[in-house]
Amino acid sequence: MHDAAPAPLSPPPEPASGAISLFLDFDGTLVEIAERPDAIVVDDRLRDLVRRLAERLDGRLAVVSGRTAGEIVAFLHAADCQPPFAIAGSHGLELRWTDGRSESPARPEALGAVLDGFAALARSHPGVVVEEKPFGAALHYRGAPDAGPECDALAQAMAQAHGLSLQRGKMVCEVRLPGADKGDAVRRFMADRAMAGTTPIFLGDDVTDEAGFVAAAALGGWGVQVGATPITAAHYRLADVTAVHRWLGRIAGESA
Ligand SMILES: [Mg+2]
Repeated sequence: MHDAAPAPLSPPPEPASGAISLFLDFDGTLVEIAERPDAIVVDDRLRDLVRRLAERLDGRLAVVSGRTAGEIVAFLHAADCQPPFAIAGSHGLELRWTDGRSESPARPEALGAVLDGFAALARSHPGVVVEEKPFGAALHYRGAPDAGPECDALAQAMAQAHGLSLQRGKMVCEVRLPGADKGDAVRRFMADRAMAGTTPIFLGDDVTDEAGFVAAAALGGWGVQVGATPITAAHYRLADVTAVHRWLGRIAGESA
């Protein structure tokens, strides 16, 4: 499923906005990853960029994140109204369309037991942060990298014991409801009238984005890897969050 990338990937071309749909990961793609998930910085310039992109693409813009849809709205959309972009939250488990439709599953019953187990590990490993999510629980060990193997082993055991999925990311492992990934989110949104027939482009920085890259390619589009994670099904690469903002700015119609 993954193409090896023997040579460094080149920067993506600048597509005409009329024929594309854009799928954007959030952490590590639109914003710099922070020490703790709640410590990221979203400024008005980024909010403005996303709003102008959505306008330029006539709503064919989706933010596809492991965060909840509610968090994405809170970070990127200050106004008290329907966001002008679609959202796939919780790794594709929650979907929100620009016309107000939404879908989300029920909270897994075993989550309480998983959170108890994670909390016990965090108590004995200062720096490990437990994050409760609507459909999962995550252990962040960026603040205690040595605890990584132990976090991973516990998450794996919890996932197995409770019939949940293990989702690994950068310095984080999450146990969550199975049944959707970022690729599913791309396929669902692309099946909608607003995006059908356009070229999907997926930008992401982490292993969870691979499913999005693969889905975009299968629908005639392409993926853009952000940063240096080595194995990827993406066709192009942008060096960092700043380069992403610059590239998106050009699609949104900025002259610089
Ligand atoms: Mg990311």
